[in-house]
Formats: sequence, C-alpha cells, structure tokens
Amino acid sequence: MRKRIVAGNWKMNTDIESGKRLAAALMNLLSGKPAPLNVGVAIAPPFTHLSEIRKQIDTSKICLAAQNCASESSGAFTGEVSAGMLKSAGVMAVIIGHSERRSYFHEDHAALAKKVDLVLKNDMRPVFCFGEVLGERNAGIQNQIVESQLKESLFQLSEADFTRVILAYEPVWAIGTGVVATPGQAQEMHHFIRSLIIARYGNEIAEDTTILYGGSCKSSNAAELFSKPDVDGGLIGGASLDAAEFHRIIHCF
Ligand code: PEP
Repeated sequence: MRKRIVAGNWKMNTDIESGKRLAAALMNLLSGKPAPLNVGVAIAPPFTHLSEIRKQIDTSKICLAAQNCASESSGAFTGEVSAGMLKSAGVMAVIIGHSERRSYFHEDHAALAKKVDLVLKNDMRPVFCFGEVLGERNAGIQNQIVESQLKESLFQLSEADFTRVILAYEPVWAIGTGVVATPGQAQEMHHFIRSLIIARYGNEIAEDTTILYGGSCKSSNAAELFSKPDVDGGLIGGASLDAAEFHRIIHCF
C-alpha cells in the first residue's frame, strides 16, 4: 500500500523561536492524537530553522524537509544551500520545483533535474512539485504541461531512483488563492499522472508512487480530496502555519 503523506510548506514564514513554537504545538497535538496508520507527516521550515527543529522533533515521527536546494553540489555560489548541507542538518526530504521557485527564481526543467539528482545522491527524498497555470488550464493544455514537466525533470531517473520521489501536483491557480481544485479535477489529473508513470516505469512502480495535491487545501476540503483514489495526501502551505488546522488536515484520511 502506498504511503499517504501530509506535508507542511512553511515558506518564508516564522522566525526561529516562533517556528519552534509551531513545531512544538504540532508535536503536542500528535502525541495526543497520532497520525492515522500509514500517514506520514512532514514539515518544511526555512533553512535557518532546520538544525534547531531537527533536535526538537528528533523523538517524533515527523519528517524534516527543506524547501529548496542548490542545483550545484558545492563551490562559489554565494547564498546557495547545497543538498549535502541539508543532509548534514538532518533533512530527509527536499521540496523541488515549487511554482514560486519556478516563477520568481526562473528555475527551469534542466536545473530542477539537477536538483532532483543531488537530493537523491545525498540520500534524501525529493518532493517534486509541478502543475499548470490558469491560462494553461483555461486553454485545456494542462495535461501537456504536466507531462512535459515530468518528462523533462524526472523521467530520466532510473526505476530505483524514481521510487524515492514524492510527487506533488499543485495547480498554480490554486496555490495561496483560496481557489481549490475540485476533487474531480484533482482525481482526473492524478489519474493522468499515474498513467504517465505506468507508461514510463510500469504498473507496480506507479501503484506505489505517492502523489500529493497542493493548492488551498484546508481541513474543510481535504477529506473530499483525500478520498479520491489517486490523491495520496497534501502539500499544505498557508494552513500548515496553524498547528491545530494542520493536525485536522492530517486526520482528514
Ligand atoms: C504550497 O505553497 O505548496 C501551497 C499548496 O500553498 P497553499 O496551501 O497556501 O495554497
């Protein structure tokens, strides 16, 4: 049975102290009411918080994730943070290709493929984000867009490497907008994504691949989304900054 995951992307929010309070509140809620069986919980705080929060969540089952990494392994790249550095901070998964990175920082398919590769080489799991913008959906070309995002940055991976990737379909028009994809739209796209994985890697690997939905997911809409057969959980932005709300989402399975 493939893993279900609820992952929180804190983006550029909280300072170290308030981030620690948020992690502590989540740990406290999870110790009272643990995540359902087969549901993994991850949080992706800002880089500056990682080491501190690692120590804090060490005894819990929460997976520590980062929000990005460099596309080079080391060297003269001022301001960048490498996959190896993240590994040494205790990070287990790295969000790659978030739409905000693609649009504000012009990250292209090739750079994202390099990042995925470095995350895997450093024995962490990429959480690979992709999805169409509103104009593309309105033009009816969302499937082509998603297919090219997967083919250009992921489908070069060997079978063994691909099985370590977590996918996150995030329609850009739904991220931070309050406009959530309907459960039907999410299921239709996730089913299409799984069909692409079948074509490239076969049935067994496709069946085991976790595909998260992201975009204005809240406790009020998560249960219906997560009930869809190809939706394996959520990548949660804004709602992950409220421990009680994030905890409610974890219990939407
Ligand atoms: C995200 O940033 O990955 C995201 C899904 O954001 P939000 O939940 O705020 O739409």
